[in-house]
Amino acid sequence: MTETVQIDIQRCQNSRIEQVDFNDIKFGQVYSDHMFMADYVDGHWTNLKIIPYQNLSLSPATSAIHYGQSVFEGMKAYKNTKGEIAIFRPEDNASRLNASANRMCIPELPEEIFMSGLIELLKLDSSWIPNKRGTSLYIRPFIFATDEYIGIRPSSTYKFMIFTCPVGSYYSGAVKVKIETKYARAVRGGTGYAKAAGNYAGSLYPARQAQNDGFNQLIWTDALTHEYIEESGTMNVMFIIGDSLLTAPTGDTILKGITRNSVLTLAREYGLKVEERPVKVTEVLYAIKNGTLKEAFGTGTAATIAHISHIGHEDDIYTLPEVEGRKFSPWVLDRLDSIKYGDAEDTYNWVHIV
Ligand code: PMP
Repeated sequence: MTETVQIDIQRCQNSRIEQVDFNDIKFGQVYSDHMFMADYVDGHWTNLKIIPYQNLSLSPATSAIHYGQSVFEGMKAYKNTKGEIAIFRPEDNASRLNASANRMCIPELPEEIFMSGLIELLKLDSSWIPNKRGTSLYIRPFIFATDEYIGIRPSSTYKFMIFTCPVGSYYSGAVKVKIETKYARAVRGGTGYAKAAGNYAGSLYPARQAQNDGFNQLIWTDALTHEYIEESGTMNVMFIIGDSLLTAPTGDTILKGITRNSVLTLAREYGLKVEERPVKVTEVLYAIKNGTLKEAFGTGTAATIAHISHIGHEDDIYTLPEVEGRKFSPWVLDRLDSIKYGDAEDTYNWVHIV
């Protein structure tokens, strides 16, 4: 069915932007003036609107709350050096949202609704996009089940929404990660590749155990043997060993990171040999011990690149080479930022200018 993308826009009376200190933005705590909404009823997406950011009123029996039929995305828009609004690879987020939706028995959302809703929202709240390099507007699109029904079945009604929050320059030092060998995030045939709410709830307890032991995050391993590296927190993980960049293939247990794909593309441009193949925990530990591991880092929308300084495994903690001496990860971070902020040519057509 072809949907007509007509959006009803209700502007807020008083913008809250004056209350925001753009020099000190707390991640995920400040929301822009407006939000986009659409409803799925009678088999199609309808009632497209942008309204002032506000609370929702929901029945306590709303099925998403009980059974977790809920999927989301995370992406960013930037003010580039020309003052334009630049969104990084939004079509990839739209299609990943639908891949997640399919797995959770949620009806697909037509890409034109995703894109038009997003673009109209960004135009309306463009003054909320910070313009310093390193800062951006974090965008949260999501779909959740809204049937008022206590019984397990796919909902027949849903809401799609987008809200945004300005985020400051993401600086966190290098992270200390623990290779998880007891708990699992995802299993073959499971939902690991979907950005489904429940995947994140299930990861909280094991992550807290690791935090209690002094780690920032976990590196998940395969559920069956815990011998192969999967991903880390909300990032994919990569290792540079010798002249190769190693990362796990995504399959059905790992989220297909958009930053991951961008970094792999740029790694080829840089001249590294890219190996997307199962990565054994023992091979990484061995490479640390014999000095061939040069870099280890996570890739994701929030930080783009997060250097890994230490890896814990069972009772041992391994120290990785100093971040200052690393070559590829700082290069790729700068290369990606230059493309996003318009300082370098967008050779791969990743940037959508509004
Ligand atoms: N893995 C998981 C589980 C994530 O939640 C994320 C964040 N979306 C990523 C990897 C990185 O994906 P992306 O580069 O698209 O942000």
